Parts: sequence; C-alpha cells; structure tokens
Amino acid sequence: MRSPVWPVVTLVAALLGASAPASLARDESEEVRLVLQITVDGLRADLLTRNIDHLGEGGFRYLLDNGVVFTNAHYRHANTETIVGHATLATGAQPAVHGMLGNVWYDAQADALSYNVEDPEHLPLPVRAAASMGEQVDPAQRLARTKGRSPRALLAETVADKLLKSSAGRAKVFGISGKDRGAIAMAGQGGKAFWMSTDSGDFVTTSFYYDTYPPWVAAWNAKREAEDLAEGIWALLDDPASYAMAHQDDRPYETDLDGYGRVFPHRFGPSDSKLLYTQVLVSPYGDALLAGFAKALLAGESLGDDSTPDYLSVSFSGVDAVNHFFGPASLETEDMVRQLDRTLAEFFLFIDHQVGLEHTLIVLSADHGMPEAPEYASSLGVPAGRLLPEAIVTAAQRLGREAFGLDEVVKFYYRPFLYLRAGHIEAAGLDAETVREELARRLTRVPGIHAAVTRSSVGQLTNRDLAARIRNNLHRDREGDIYIVQEAYWFNFDPGPVAVMHGSPWNYDTHVPVIFAGGRVAAGVVHRPIQPADVAPTLAALLGMSAPASAQGTVLPEVFRNAQFTY
Ligand SMILES: [Zn+2]
Repeated sequence: MRSPVWPVVTLVAALLGASAPASLARDESEEVRLVLQITVDGLRADLLTRNIDHLGEGGFRYLLDNGVVFTNAHYRHANTETIVGHATLATGAQPAVHGMLGNVWYDAQADALSYNVEDPEHLPLPVRAAASMGEQVDPAQRLARTKGRSPRALLAETVADKLLKSSAGRAKVFGISGKDRGAIAMAGQGGKAFWMSTDSGDFVTTSFYYDTYPPWVAAWNAKREAEDLAEGIWALLDDPASYAMAHQDDRPYETDLDGYGRVFPHRFGPSDSKLLYTQVLVSPYGDALLAGFAKALLAGESLGDDSTPDYLSVSFSGVDAVNHFFGPASLETEDMVRQLDRTLAEFFLFIDHQVGLEHTLIVLSADHGMPEAPEYASSLGVPAGRLLPEAIVTAAQRLGREAFGLDEVVKFYYRPFLYLRAGHIEAAGLDAETVREELARRLTRVPGIHAAVTRSSVGQLTNRDLAARIRNNLHRDREGDIYIVQEAYWFNFDPGPVAVMHGSPWNYDTHVPVIFAGGRVAAGVVHRPIQPADVAPTLAALLGMSAPASAQGTVLPEVFRNAQFTY
C-alpha cells in the first residue's frame, strides 16, 4: 500500500507557497492542453488496490503516485449499470436529471423497451462491404432494434460540451470505447464518438457524428489488427505463482464463450467466428486495440497541440467483460488488471511524447463496481442466489391475482423496473397507486428481493441511503411502476452467458476509484466520502469553467490543494 504522503506534501507545499514568486504560479510549462478522462468499465475500487503490489511503473502507478487519490468514492444511484455511471461521470448529475436510468428502459411513446444510446435515425457508417454480422452477446444491445446510435436520450450537459462552449468550439472533443455506450455519453452532444464493432472489429461511428470516416480512422481499420488475433491466445502476463487466484482458474460457473475456455490460455476463434470480436473484448487485447486507436486519434486529430485544451475520453471495456464472464475473484480478472496496467503505461508514454504529461490532466474512474458470482459468495459462506426475471414476473402476476383478481397485471420486467398494465388496472376500477404499493409490499417477501418500492413508497424505507439512491434513479418519463432491489450478492438478471451481473445499490457495485493527476495537481490521498458526480464539476473548475448546467456534484477542493493555481 502507499505511504502516507499527504501530510508531508502539505508541509512542503505550504513552505514553498509562502515564498514562491507569483510568476511561478503562471508557469506555462504546466498549462493543460489535453484532458484525458479514463473510465475503466467495472473496475471496483478494490480490484485496483488488491493488485497494487503487481503494478509496474508508469501505468496506474503514475496516477497513484502523482495524483490525488479518492479512496471512498461511491455512486449515489441505485442502478449501477454502464450508461448510468458514464452519464453521471460526464454530466455531474444524477440519473434522475441526466435521464440515463439504465442500459434499457421502457419507451412509452414506442411502447417498447429502448436501448439507452439507440437512435434509428443515425445508422453506422459502413466500413467495408463484406463485413459479416457478429452475434450480439451483450444482453442490453441485443434489445436494440437498430444499430443506429446517438446521445439523443442524454438530457444533461457534459463537461465536454461545456468545454466546447467555453472555447467557442475550438476544443476538439472525442469519446472512444470498446462499447458504444462507453463512448457516446462522454462525448456529449457536440463531441465525436467511436467504438469497436463486435461484427467486424473495426472502430465505427454513425451519421450523427460524421458523413464519412476521417482518413486516420479508415487507415486504422484497414490494418485489421483485431482480425490478426484470430486463433491466437490470451496467456498470463506473469509467472502463475505470482497470482492470488492461480489456484481457482477453473470454476464451474465461469463462462466458456464458444470455445474460449474457462482456463488459461484462452483461445480466440477463427476469423469467420461470429464471436471472435466479442472474445477479443473479453481479453486484454480489446483494451490494447482501444489504446492503439486512441494513439491514432491523438496523432490524426493533433490533440493537445495548442493552448486550447482538448478532451479525450477513453473507456476501457475489458475489465467489465472479463468480470462478467469469469467473476472479479478470477485469475482472468487478476491478469486483466495487470495487463491493462501495461497498456496504460505504454499509452501514457505515447501521450508524454505527443502532448507532454505535464500538459495532460488525467482523471480516472469507473462506471460501476462488481459483485462476486453468487456461487462463489455461497462457497465462502455468504448467502447469495440468482433472482431471475421470470421468477419476479411469475410472483408479481400471482400476487396481482391474489390481491386484486387482476389477470396478467405485469406488462414486463426489465431490471430494475417492473412495468404494470395501466389499462387492466383502470378497467377493473382499481386505483393505480393502491395496486402499485400493495404489489410492491408483497413482492418484498419473494426470496432474493430486498426491497420493492414505488415512487411514493420509497420514502418509507428505513435505510435512508438506499432510499436516496433509488430516488436518484427515477425519472418520470422513463421509470417503471415498481423498483426492485435484490439482496446483496444476489444476481438479478437474465440467465444466459453472463456469470456475474452488477447493477445493485450495494457497496461492491457503487465503490469506484477516482484519481486526478497531471497538470498542476499535486499528490495526495483522500479518505472522506465523495461521489463520481463530483468529477465533472471538478474538471470544469480545473479548466476555469463553471460546472455543466445540471451538475449536482461539487468541486473537490483536495484537487486544488498544494498545487499552484492562480488566474
Ligand atoms: Zn457490465
């Protein structure tokens, strides 16, 4: 673990600050030319600290040793899913305000479930004529009706959009990721987004952003680096004896993704496999490809080449994917974090040559944490189980009949919301609020359900923090009738290839790293509770801007302490 540098740094800075001439504070050698917002999808805070003795130089260590490290950052919304966390990081607002309540919600106008960044009017720009269609494994993306994507459902301003306004459009703004929703929210309404296609391994975008691909993107895709991985392997980075999880590589609840296997070395399928590019994303190579694409972007768009700060968001999807298929207590996740560390080190080295790390303000966080696989938790004596959607719907339909004589009162369930048939309730002459509350009360007794609440009954929860997290996750146009919270360590998702699923309001899902480094930020460790919604207002303040329009988080003063900040 780190030594307690904070008091020493404070003393030195106080002594220096007292005698430093004012001109030093305006030293242009540290002016911020690039803001790099890194999001490591699914990096629960302790997945980083647990691996700390095996991190090399220049990757995570660069941030940990030179940055302000917040050890106690928790999301304050209940549905800890990818788009919810990304949108919160980008806007500084709660989902109740930015509107991204979940990866999927019910669209009342379309009378259908809607995927968070879907936009049928903005289809992907084709990369090559012969691209075969991959099989979509991501359960949320499978619900999308088209491959059109845009940020149209994001209701709040992002810090990147704020930067565009404050620089009169001169700032260059990009969001990239292994997955669409990791890229799109961060780029906001005015930036450009690219993500990796699981059909072709190319980085793609849609007509919302461009009419044609910029030449550097076409050139990158033409190299077919993802396809080169076909029939290759993912092997451990280090000596197996150095891993805490080496003794439990093969566990029955881990997922074998079309021959990819449950043990090392994992083997990628042939180039015509429909799951090749999904397998690549469930490995360190997806993140390495993303870092390679980021380098091409930095060079191709000349980011950080002048005194107007540019913004690049890079959301690494590999840790999340590996957690989903093998669990966070797996050898795979342990190796994944080490390999991402090496990818980051190489990436930071490139940025140092291209822009200069002294000119690069970096903030790293995660969009959510991760639970253990319920079977693993059970094996350690922690009560856990699987709460399947079918069981929730069956129980709710039965309770509707028993309590009100209503047949098929549930329209559908998609986590975390249960949606009722308003027409059935009205036709039976029943009061909708009474039905909702009574059903919620009875659902709480179903095994695996910790709480089932409505907008009006959520205030009755004795756990005030839980009530606040649920309230922050409601939005009148998008919420369902009943919010269902599973018991801690219970899996609440569709049965299928995914062995582990986050999305609860419990600490293992809300706890993420938040680290600011670079520019004029001085090192320190902060243990007081903060929230990722504080990131956007703090970034804005570091850039001399007011917070994004709807931001609810606050500026983190520790980021400014000890360093030389003046106007
Ligand atoms: Zn996930």
